[in-house]
Amino acid sequence: MKIAILSRNPKLYSTRRLAEAARERGHEARVIDVLRCYMNITSHAPSIHYKGEQLSGFDAVIPRIGASVTFYGTAVLRQFEMMNVYPLNESVALTRSRDKLRSLQLLSRRGIGLPITGFAHTPDDIEDLIKMVGGAPLVIKLLEGTQGIGVVLAETRQAAESVIEAFLGLRVNILVQEYIKEAKGADIRCFIIGDKVVASMRRQAKPGEFRSNLHRGGSADLIRITPEERSTAVRAAEIMGLNVAGVDILRSNHGPVVMEVNSSPGLEGIETATNKDIAGQMIAFIEKDAVAGKTRTRGKG
Ligand code: ADP
Repeated sequence: MKIAILSRNPKLYSTRRLAEAARERGHEARVIDVLRCYMNITSHAPSIHYKGEQLSGFDAVIPRIGASVTFYGTAVLRQFEMMNVYPLNESVALTRSRDKLRSLQLLSRRGIGLPITGFAHTPDDIEDLIKMVGGAPLVIKLLEGTQGIGVVLAETRQAAESVIEAFLGLRVNILVQEYIKEAKGADIRCFIIGDKVVASMRRQAKPGEFRSNLHRGGSADLIRITPEERSTAVRAAEIMGLNVAGVDILRSNHGPVVMEVNSSPGLEGIETATNKDIAGQMIAFIEKDAVAGKTRTRGKG
């Protein structure tokens, strides 16, 4: 097969591993920088041009689109879909997963366990908003944050009020969320391919920190997940419409709660922690699943 990997940087661990795994399995792999793609949206003849060349002949595309280029990146991915190229994760699912609020709404509608979460736009009823999510301590998150940046733990009601007021005053969108204290600074990353958790790891925040992101100095180790955690993670990815996903779960007193579903989960942490060939498994999934023009939504919506 001829596989396109949409990534801005061929040197990134995940990009490198995917290209390597594809070639090892006898495929042609090409890393394409989405921002260098330009498109022709002519009726019935969609095309993508790249550095002066018209792209053609691809059987599958693997999107590894960074959060900061979601808008343009998903448009390029949609164009591949319109050209009947099979996407490992499709553009609609990717767009959903990049909107934290929309993701939580979709998951809650299907009964997935979630931390109690509030969302507000105007700093009028902050007191009631805080009460609604169970009072302090609570977590306040910038809707556009990634890698733990813009995630704040407010220990007291006063701190929560000030932080919420400040954020709303800056006119940024925020989530206000129940703090899952009993998780003790640890979360579980479940790596999903198809309808299976193929690997999982526990990430523990460094001492004095509640955010377990590896980018924030957290450390990873192996963990055995429960059947409930496994089915929660698989269902969450399925609801989002993602074939490949990193589902982040907290162990709460009321069972597993999903914090986030990541559509471009990093490979370095999980391959290192588990010693598994996740990139190879992703390519194997494409071999099994790829059919020209196969998406659930065909780029609609
Ligand atoms: P990002 O998408 O920026 O990584 P997250 O929502 O995943 O933001 O939060 C970053 C980290 O903060 C999580 O990995 C988790 O360890 C911690 N965290 C986030 N929300 C909560 C919560 N409601 N209760 C406890 N810890 C949380």
